[in-house]
Amino acid sequence: MQMPVRKMSGSKRIALVAHDNKKSELMEWAIYNKAALSHHLLFGTGTTGTLVEEALGQPVTKFLSGPLGGDQQIGARIAEGKIDVLIFFWDPMEAQPHDPDIKALLRLAVTWNIPFACDRATADFLLTSPLMYADYEITTPDYSVYNKRLQNPNQSPK
Ligand code: PGA
Repeated sequence: MQMPVRKMSGSKRIALVAHDNKKSELMEWAIYNKAALSHHLLFGTGTTGTLVEEALGQPVTKFLSGPLGGDQQIGARIAEGKIDVLIFFWDPMEAQPHDPDIKALLRLAVTWNIPFACDRATADFLLTSPLMYADYEITTPDYSVYNKRLQNPNQSPK
């Protein structure tokens, strides 16, 4: 079966998000990987994006702060095919006011089959992959049957 594909260019659109207790770890990672990140376009939730921009001296497209809707803005762009990679250092030790948004963002990353890392080791493996710098055809799951589910008169809505 032919799966839908979307082209990612060699320069990836990377979204960066870190919870407060994880921000210093993300900053350290970003500074260590400054040269690698300079090949890509960076996006981020409000505070994370501002910190990364200052630390790297590289422009970051900033959304709202996560608890104010920034995670959802990034999720929407993943669904639209406008974000290629997500680096999301979420805090496993503290509940967040926007826990549902965090779950939704992680869900959309899987829904649209994008590469994403939630810890530093995985982020290292991801950023050092040759695919980060090459054109890549990402297969997106085929949701056409799902999209047409109410158009078949013989099929009743669930
Ligand atoms: P922030 O949001 O970068 O604005 O702190 C991150 C988050 O908590 O999702």
